[in-house]
Amino acid sequence: MIISMKLHSTREEIDQVTSIVQHFGYKVHSIEGEERVVIGGVGVGDVTHCMESVEALPQVEKVVRITAPYKFVSKEFRAGKTRIKVNGTEIGGGEFIVMAGPCSVESEEQIMRAAEAVAKAGAKLLRGGAFKPRTSPYDFQGMEEEGLKLLQKAKKATGLAIVTEVMGDNQVELVAQYADVLQVGARNMQNFMLLKALGKCGKPVLLKRGLSSSIKELLMSAEYITAHGNPDVILCERGIRTFETATRNTCDISAIPVLNELTHLPVILDPSHATGKRSLVPAVARAGVAVGADGLIVEVHPAPERAVSDGAQSLDLMQFARMMEDLQPYIALWKAARQKEALAAAAR
Ligand code: PEP
Ligand code: MN
Repeated sequence: MIISMKLHSTREEIDQVTSIVQHFGYKVHSIEGEERVVIGGVGVGDVTHCMESVEALPQVEKVVRITAPYKFVSKEFRAGKTRIKVNGTEIGGGEFIVMAGPCSVESEEQIMRAAEAVAKAGAKLLRGGAFKPRTSPYDFQGMEEEGLKLLQKAKKATGLAIVTEVMGDNQVELVAQYADVLQVGARNMQNFMLLKALGKCGKPVLLKRGLSSSIKELLMSAEYITAHGNPDVILCERGIRTFETATRNTCDISAIPVLNELTHLPVILDPSHATGKRSLVPAVARAGVAVGADGLIVEVHPAPERAVSDGAQSLDLMQFARMMEDLQPYIALWKAARQKEALAAAAR
C-alpha cells in the first residue's frame, strides 16, 4: 500500500504512521520530499485492517492499495487459464463450450426434448433450474429433487453434463449428487454461507454476476469459493441493472475482456438473461464469441410460449440450432485466436 501524508507533516506524525504499518507486519519504505512524505508498506499482513487504521489518522491524505484484494483467482496466482474438466469436455481450453436448456425443468417431456435438441445442435451441457429463485413467492418455484431426477435422466439419454442452480448451503449436498456443475444465481452471488459450502462440494461452480455487482465483487465471491477449497469456478456475465429499459438487463460485454485481464478463471456469457428478448440473443451471443468468452449459457425451450419462466428470452429448438450454425464461422476465428495465444504463451 502507498500512504501519502498531508503537506508538511511533522516527524512525529510520520513516525506514528510508520509504526502502525510495521505493527501490521509490513516493511516500510519512505520517500521524504520537501513538502510531502510518501510511505510505502510492502509485505503480507491484514491489509484492510491496516488501511482502515492509517486512514483514520488526521495527518494522512490518502491510502492506496496496490495489490488486488483477491489472491487465488488473480492472474498473478496462475499464468495460464484454469481448464475445468466436465464430463469429458473442458471449459477454459481450446473449445468454445455452449450450455443450453430451459430456464426451469418443467416435465419429463420438456426436458428430454430440449436435451436431445441442444445436444444435436452442439451443446455440451444441459441447463435447467430445479430450484428457482423467483422475484415473487407466488411464481413457480421449481420441481426440486424431482427436477434433478429428470435432469439425470436427460443426461443418461444424451450424454450431456448437467448445470443446475443451488440456492442455499443446505441444498449443496443434494444438488451435487445430480449436477456436474453447480450454478450460483445472480441473486445469490453474495450468499457467503453458500459460497463457503461450495468450496467443499467437490464439483465445479458456475458463478453468475449479481444484478448490481461490480467486477471486483464478482471476483471476491469467486475468491470465497477458491479460498474454501474449490479452484474450479466458472464466471458468468449475465447483464446488470442500469437505467436502460429496452433490454431486461444491460449486457456488460466489456466485463469479459476485463475479467480475462484480471483472472485465470474461465468466463462465459449468458445472452438470454442479459437481454431478456429472444430476438437479441443470437447477436449478443456472437459478441460473446468475439470478445473471447470461453462459452455461452443459453435458454432454450421446446415451446417458449408455454414456458413457466423466462419464455420471452428463450429460443425454440429450431432457433437454437440456427444460432449454433450461424456461430460456427465466429467460433472458427475464436479457435484460431486461442491457438495463437497458446503458441505465444509457450514461447514466453
Ligand atoms: C437462470 O439461469 O435461470 C437465472 C435465474 O439466472 P440469473 O441468476 O442470472 O438471473
Ligand atoms: Mn431464467
